[in-house]
Amino acid sequence: MSAAASSSTRRRRVAVLGATGAVGQSFIRLLQNHPWFELTEVAASERSAGRSYAEATRWIGGDAMPESVRSMTVQPCDPNSISAEIVFSALDSAAAQDAEPAFARAGKVVLTNAKNYRMDPDVPLVIAEVNPSHLSVLETQRRNRKWSGAIVANGNCASIVAALPLAPIHERFGIANVFAVTMQAVSGAGYPGVPSLDILGNVIPLIKDEEPKIETEIQKFLGTVGSDSIRSAGFGVSAHANRVPVEHGHTICLSVALETRADARDVERAIAEWRGADVARALPSAPARAVIVSDEPDHPQPRRHVDTGKGMTVVVGRVRADPILDVKLVAMGHNIVRGAAGASVLNAELMVHCGALAGS
Ligand code: NAP
Repeated sequence: MSAAASSSTRRRRVAVLGATGAVGQSFIRLLQNHPWFELTEVAASERSAGRSYAEATRWIGGDAMPESVRSMTVQPCDPNSISAEIVFSALDSAAAQDAEPAFARAGKVVLTNAKNYRMDPDVPLVIAEVNPSHLSVLETQRRNRKWSGAIVANGNCASIVAALPLAPIHERFGIANVFAVTMQAVSGAGYPGVPSLDILGNVIPLIKDEEPKIETEIQKFLGTVGSDSIRSAGFGVSAHANRVPVEHGHTICLSVALETRADARDVERAIAEWRGADVARALPSAPARAVIVSDEPDHPQPRRHVDTGKGMTVVVGRVRADPILDVKLVAMGHNIVRGAAGASVLNAELMVHCGALAGS
């Protein structure tokens, strides 16, 4: 189906699970006046169910809560309470474990931000511009699990921000090893998240369970899809994850060893010229460029650049030679938009565009 054809057909009903949280609220913003999707239901925990969205939600950010959602009644995370065919999940992982398969079993396509199913070989872990072909394992997923619906995963927020500039490097030169050090915003911990007295004026050198996610997910994004599963790329990744007192925007310092000899200018050019998969370009939430390179010496910076491409563009800077590995650079992207809700909405658009919503 072409993008033009998709947009001229009916708007599809979508729901948001975990709609009251930090990522859930980002979904609400992104789905306002969406050309292809109509938000019909919001759901959250039993604490919130039965209340109006305005009563149940502590709205974060300087903008006003959209009028259209204020009076919606928050539903429980039960497939019987949700009529929408597409379900965006911003559930925390404890709730996602049982809820997401229950929705998939009930015929819903679940686009999840939770960690639970990301690394399952029959679950596509997708960045629309990087690995749209991985959606082909859905056929196996539906067969294996006897689901009429499906689960399609987003990566961890830091993994997505790192994988976008690494994709053109891997495509052009092959990656042998990656060393990654993150400086992750407080909004990455959800709401209310990290206590203010722990993080103000401080750096916390631990984000529980984060490093293995970054180390494995980057390789799955950049892996290859076989007839019934995804094979991870197989290069080495070592990650340090740190929480820093920044509101939004994860900054990641990457040092990369290459398979093929190239200097920093070659790598910079490869990233700057990269346009990502053709299929992603016409999607409504796709930014003009998924990755841009700034040649200002002190870029990227979260406060200045986090909203680039409406939060969907990763900004890269300081591409230079690495004296131990081959090249090093800094990448920064919006953890809640490109690293979570925006990436899920883009994946849902990709599925509509490719006709991947329903099983054959
Ligand atoms: P959050 O602010 O803590 O929100 C969690 C949401 O889950 C709330 O809507 C909450 O509803 C709901 N919930 C909690 N327990 C539940 C239960 N037992 N049943 C049903 N709903 C339940 O977290 P977040 O930062 O938005 O993260 C959401 C998910 O996205 C997590 O899996 C996280 O790891 C992932 N993620 C987050 C980011 C980020 O940058 N923040 C990026 C990528 C991925 P109530 O309000 O009713 O409690």
